[in-house]
Amino acid sequence: MDDRDGWIWLDGALVPWREARPHVLSHGLHYGSGVFEGERIYDGRVFRLAAHSARLVRSARLVDIDLPWTREEIDTATRAVVRANGLASGYVRPLAWRGSEALGVSAIGTGVHLAIAPWEWPHYFSREARLRGIRLDMARFRRPSPESAPGESKASGLYIICTLEKDRAIKAGFDDALMLDWKGRVAEATGANIFLVIDGRLVTPRPDNFLDGITRRAVMGLARARGIEVEERDVWPDDLARASEVFLTGSASEITPVRELDGQYYQVGPLTPRLIDDFAALVLREDCEGFGESAHLADVELGKAA
Ligand code: PMP
Repeated sequence: MDDRDGWIWLDGALVPWREARPHVLSHGLHYGSGVFEGERIYDGRVFRLAAHSARLVRSARLVDIDLPWTREEIDTATRAVVRANGLASGYVRPLAWRGSEALGVSAIGTGVHLAIAPWEWPHYFSREARLRGIRLDMARFRRPSPESAPGESKASGLYIICTLEKDRAIKAGFDDALMLDWKGRVAEATGANIFLVIDGRLVTPRPDNFLDGITRRAVMGLARARGIEVEERDVWPDDLARASEVFLTGSASEITPVRELDGQYYQVGPLTPRLIDDFAALVLREDCEGFGESAHLADVELGKAA
């Protein structure tokens, strides 16, 4: 990833791709003290950019990182670096991390850096996997309880479990893994939220100490606009046997159908392809750089929420 042409926004300036390096003694590298986002560019614009930047600010706040940039400044920087790279479609990775001014468990005295890197990244799963549906394994590790970790933060250090489970699934011949939470409820995949279709209704776990996806919110809005009932509730492994369709949502994976999970097999449709079409139309709409359905993030931005 480091040896290529292009521009990365780093601490206020556009720098050549190959020169965007942190020091090896950065606190973020040693202790996972960073927060990041994953965003998609459609037709030259980042889908729900304001919601992503607001979540980055909130993620940082949840792990005591005081970002020296506002949500608006991050939006502006993101637009600039997408433009500089001439990308009509692709992915954006903003990352904030603690620097090398001090090294030890305590992060007191460290500076905060921010990099924003966009690149071409057509799809997270292969075309074949997306058409036929992907295969999910059950993860061994669970999402931690709110007493164990600030799971609503998209914090780098919290991804160690996701990486272990994703790689274990791939090595076992699956595409991804489904993680339960500390109570044994269905939570999320390693980089995406999950939806089930049960009796024509869309069912998804309430984000209880895991990521409340921006794609997830968009898909709930699209389903409701179609008159489909959406239920946010506790989802238990037993519910998987009652589902007729299952799919994942995420900025990288967009809407990806699941064909197999824990010994259950699912069809790709009829609902999933309709939502895929609706989502494809939504991301090309003019106003998509705002908050969209992610009003909760707008509230956070305005200081209405904790
Ligand atoms: N859960 C996890 C663990 C993720 O990494 C992601 C991707 N950011 C999601 C859910 C989906 O979030 P979003 O739709 O905002 O990309």
